[in-house]
Amino acid sequence: MAPTNGDGDSRTRSRPRRWTRWALWATPRPALVIILVVEAAVTILTVVALSVGHASGATLGRFALLVVLSGGYAEAGDRVERFRRYLSTSVGTMASPVAVWCFAAGLTLPPGWAALFVVVLYGHTLLRARRHESARPHRLIFTAATVVLATLVASAITTAVDPSGGLLAVGVPGAVGVLGALLAYIAINQSLVSIVIYFVRRPAKFRTAMLSGDDLTLEVATLVLALLTAEALVHSPLIAPLVLAVLVVLHRSSLVRQLERGASTDAKTGLLNAASWRQLAQRQLRRVQRGGDGASVLMVDLDHFKRVNDTYGHLAGDTVLRSVADTLARELRGHDAVGRFGGEEFVVLLDGVAPATALNICTRLNARIRELTFDDVHQVTASIGLASYPADGHHLDDLIEAADAAMYRAKDGGRDQTQPAVAGLTA
Ligand code: GH3
Ligand code: MG
Ligand code: MG
Repeated sequence: MAPTNGDGDSRTRSRPRRWTRWALWATPRPALVIILVVEAAVTILTVVALSVGHASGATLGRFALLVVLSGGYAEAGDRVERFRRYLSTSVGTMASPVAVWCFAAGLTLPPGWAALFVVVLYGHTLLRARRHESARPHRLIFTAATVVLATLVASAITTAVDPSGGLLAVGVPGAVGVLGALLAYIAINQSLVSIVIYFVRRPAKFRTAMLSGDDLTLEVATLVLALLTAEALVHSPLIAPLVLAVLVVLHRSSLVRQLERGASTDAKTGLLNAASWRQLAQRQLRRVQRGGDGASVLMVDLDHFKRVNDTYGHLAGDTVLRSVADTLARELRGHDAVGRFGGEEFVVLLDGVAPATALNICTRLNARIRELTFDDVHQVTASIGLASYPADGHHLDDLIEAADAAMYRAKDGGRDQTQPAVAGLTA
């Protein structure tokens, strides 16, 4: 669950930095405190857990098999995973396929050995990352610490239920133990990494720092696969390598979905890009033409946006664009087509609403955008042009043109308002 897009800084590659100059120290204070406390606590817990109890032959066998399988997978799946992280536009945490091995270790090994396995696995990852010069070590080490903690707790829960590690064989208590371990694993891993990402990147909403829907699906699928791996490790170690094949397929299909999504969304705002908006809007309009209630196209253009850039800088401008995009997505229904048309222009197709209702919605959007608050930018407003099917046109292009013309009337009328293409339309 490493934070995303950890590309290396080319100036730091040639030789290791002195510890006083590590990038870690530039981390904002609350995040730095959490990182250091978690890493210290995890080190102590691992040493203590390893020093109590002894390793049986079964434990050593499972440990060795997990090391071989995870090492083999890491080398084989390396390119897919690096490409997937490179493509990701999410600020938040990402599901990681190594959870298969870590959670399986948590289910089948005693706490100390499970933690040691995660240390070995991430040690290997760290070495590979140096080879590719692609990750910031302090991020990877913190990710490793959170996974060690999650694995330790998962192992402590399952060992408490059945010290032999053959969990599912012990009926209802075993199932409850596995479920508890699974929930604890996800909760610890996700919450610690999300909290740190939140303090470092300060996204507008905490949710942004958490797993995206697709990644959550992948995470749950990965953990279920871990459960099967654990069962195989305990009862039929020879079929455990089959997990490798399933994991490779799962991982690749996640990459394919990511490619599809990347091709249809605008990277800056996460809304549909112009081409995919047009496709969706075209489909919805055709449905309306076959007997729906009506549809409206909204052209939303931010007012004096050039001034925002000139006064507060391009990055502040980008933050405004993202907030406006979030507002549009939040205020409209899930099936309304919302896209970024280009620059500071957004476009919406509402289906199944009468023109008067659409005008009401536009007025509400004007208010929500006006009410947005930012750290630096004073206030943002938008001019909206509204065109409705069938009164203002039958084809999508006619509606876009009519909405665009109406938007310019809203600018001429003093901005921060909506103008309908049909004169005299009232809410
Ligand atoms: P008006 O009220 O008439 O619409 O004025 P305006 O300044 O919003 O319109 P204009 O078309 O003159 O300027 C649009 C500005 O939007 C210019 C451009 O730099 C800025 N812009 C376009 N895309 C982006 C972007 O992705 N990020 C940022 N920060 N600015 C952008
Ligand atoms: Mg514009
Ligand atoms: Mg503008």
